[in-house]
Amino acid sequence: MNNFTEVFKTFDWEETKRSIYAKTSQDVERALSTQKRTLEDFKALISPSASAYLEQMATISQKLTQKRFGKVIQMYVPLYLSNECNNICTYCGFSYDNKVRRKTLSNMEIMQEVAVIKKMGYEHILLVTGESNQTVHVDYFKKVLNLIRPHFAHISMEVQPLDLEDYQQLTPYGLNTVLVYQETYHQEDYKKHHPKGKKSNFDYRLETPDRLGRAGIHKMGLGVLIGLEDWRTDSFFTALHLDYLEKKYWQSKYSLSFPRLRPFSGGLEPKVTMSDRELVQLICAYRLFNEEVELSISTRESPSFRNNIIKLGITALSAGSKTNPGGYAVEPDSLEQFEISDERSPEEIAEIIAAQGYEPVWKDWDNSLAI
Ligand code: SF4
Repeated sequence: MNNFTEVFKTFDWEETKRSIYAKTSQDVERALSTQKRTLEDFKALISPSASAYLEQMATISQKLTQKRFGKVIQMYVPLYLSNECNNICTYCGFSYDNKVRRKTLSNMEIMQEVAVIKKMGYEHILLVTGESNQTVHVDYFKKVLNLIRPHFAHISMEVQPLDLEDYQQLTPYGLNTVLVYQETYHQEDYKKHHPKGKKSNFDYRLETPDRLGRAGIHKMGLGVLIGLEDWRTDSFFTALHLDYLEKKYWQSKYSLSFPRLRPFSGGLEPKVTMSDRELVQLICAYRLFNEEVELSISTRESPSFRNNIIKLGITALSAGSKTNPGGYAVEPDSLEQFEISDERSPEEIAEIIAAQGYEPVWKDWDNSLAI
């Protein structure tokens, strides 16, 4: 197969959904007892039948995570560079049709934000923008990477999907990781939620991780926005995508996130809700399916949920995050992309991690390793 679209088109959403919901206790027990789990086992572990086995899943997930990663949690923070966006996304505060003041940080403003982030202790940073190809383009990213590279050990980006050549150009500037969430693998619903702009091209987005793999990116992050469609089916397609990528681009590392739809200005109600217990089930299912993948939780989740999830399989946490450009220093009151649920400081989160016998890690990578 040349790209994931070819794999994806061999699956039918409704049929996949039916097969997940048809999984029985016997299927779950088989998935729990085996060492090497298949995609069919993953379906069993995310099925409603697995809910009764959550304790067992959590125990195995904890053991596997500690074996592979040790008792450490990687700390990272987002830096929103711009809220300019030409896309309409029904779930986002930065959507083109949302009448808010638009802003892209200047060099000086970026450095003001960086100064505050560095004071918090961060070495891993996630650069975030909307999709505005007139202002936030490859040359802008090169400029920003040049500017901040001396200050961070690991730089991730969550921006618009780019062409292969663009990723090839950015890697030498110190780009380590790219996050590109499919939002939903339900093609019809994807169209409803992305009616205008480049993001409305489902296939281009779906093939972005292939382009990242070909560009030799160090790490890529996948996920869906939970709440747009049936989370079990969307998670199966995420696992399928991960499985395909790992086999094809084995030199790259992978991470997964599970953002649940949060309120924002002019907000969209989730079509499907996911309880905290179901999110724990999903996190454990991913870990049982894949021992290598990094699992990340952002400040979208509540303090109590984040306190309790530390030992259950995740490997990365953000803290003290702002989701508006200038949010740390330049313009703290501008409109956020979505509301933060956990507003505790990085120090508080570090203490909570340490109290559970884990170590918060601020730096586990250095760009010199990439050369
Ligand atoms: S989700 Fe991204 S692309 Fe969509 S409106 Fe928000 S910033 Fe723009």
